[in-house]
Amino acid sequence: MTTIHPAKITKVLPDSIAAEIGFEVGDAIVAINGTHPRDLIDYQFLCADEVLELEVLDATGKTHHLEIEKDYDDDLGLEFETALFDGLIQCNNRCPFCFIDQQPPGKRSSLYLKDDDYRLSFLYGSYLTLTNLPEREWQRIEQMRLSPLYVSVHATEPEIRIKLLKNPRGGQILQQLKWFQKRRLQIHAQVVVCPGINDGKHLEQTLRDLVSFHKGDVPTVASVAVVPVGLTRFRPSVDELIPVTREKAQEVISQVKSLLLEFRQKFGSNVAWLADEWFLIAGEELPSEAEYEEYPQIDNGVGSIRLFIKQFAHAAAELLPPKVSPARKLTWVVGNAVEKAFQPIVQQLNAVEGLEVNMRALCSDYWGQSISVTGLLTGHDLLLNLQGQDLGEGILLPNVMLKHGEFVFLDDMSIEDVARQLETKILPVAGVEDLINTCIHY
Ligand code: SF4
Repeated sequence: MTTIHPAKITKVLPDSIAAEIGFEVGDAIVAINGTHPRDLIDYQFLCADEVLELEVLDATGKTHHLEIEKDYDDDLGLEFETALFDGLIQCNNRCPFCFIDQQPPGKRSSLYLKDDDYRLSFLYGSYLTLTNLPEREWQRIEQMRLSPLYVSVHATEPEIRIKLLKNPRGGQILQQLKWFQKRRLQIHAQVVVCPGINDGKHLEQTLRDLVSFHKGDVPTVASVAVVPVGLTRFRPSVDELIPVTREKAQEVISQVKSLLLEFRQKFGSNVAWLADEWFLIAGEELPSEAEYEEYPQIDNGVGSIRLFIKQFAHAAAELLPPKVSPARKLTWVVGNAVEKAFQPIVQQLNAVEGLEVNMRALCSDYWGQSISVTGLLTGHDLLLNLQGQDLGEGILLPNVMLKHGEFVFLDDMSIEDVARQLETKILPVAGVEDLINTCIHY
């Protein structure tokens, strides 16, 4: 049985109900109306009452009882140390392509934690495999209608999925999809394609099986992302996985495109989307803006390049001035995978009088990749490629290169450290508006 810890508060939003009552960072919520919340989902559910009796532990360990009256949809204005007050549900698979196992050894132990937690899937869209859920968790998903969930399917044929997850429990995916279907709950699916294991006819079978669940007013399978396996030089078993070559990427694109044509005719939607990486590896044009429909897999990065280009065009029309003064020179660091796609953006920025933006498209020596997406570049890669060069007044650094909420790269180097060694400023940018505003107002 897991232990439920009090929910430790890390932020009290200004002008919120919690701020008015006098909540402080370091306080912890023990119970709401007599129930100990397991996680943020319980907390949100319990807080939907109009009268709340709270048991709170302050930073000195003293217990307080308070009553709050509010409208049912009023948020208390609290943020917590973690979304899971009873700990993380860990993964019980051994996928050979697991990114956690492909990290270098000797890092903080938290970096090696493998989560496979349906709560994180519901709250933040992280992918899970459904192989570790006892009956009571299935019941909770049903009772609380935790939908959509994001499921790593990889293959629908039991023996192929068992082989990929290295877990005999992996073979039940079709029964599980029927379970969701019966309860009108939805999933978004992803298929990580490992050449020689789940490609070719297995990929076709998987996509056909998944789209067969895309029917009715609440389609069980809302969307599918088809993603190439990502490998790093730290992977433990080098022989087990074959990297995706240019030819392989071209083959998968052509195979999936013809299936998508069929799906579009049948469902009026692609239902499945190829990840951007396929086109970058294959050296082919990205699909058009319209083909991404409502970008249902954008949190998985699918369509992110097209969306970025589109958002840039909108923001540039509104925000880019004809001239900046004083003149400035900046370096924009991106993964070499997007070098070609982002050229028009660089040209548009450089059309502003007084602004010079030099794009440096890098691959990751750290991970041992010849083609890298921006989010995987590390401090090591910046130092290796940029040291001793004229980088201008600063580096425009897409914040996807940093660990969530920290000023630290994936290789644990801090941005201060890298900036000091490169003898320039590092300016983290989050999205297009930030990119443009930093160029203009720097
Ligand atoms: S399910 Fe995810 S976390 Fe678990 S081994 Fe596979 S890739 Fe890694």
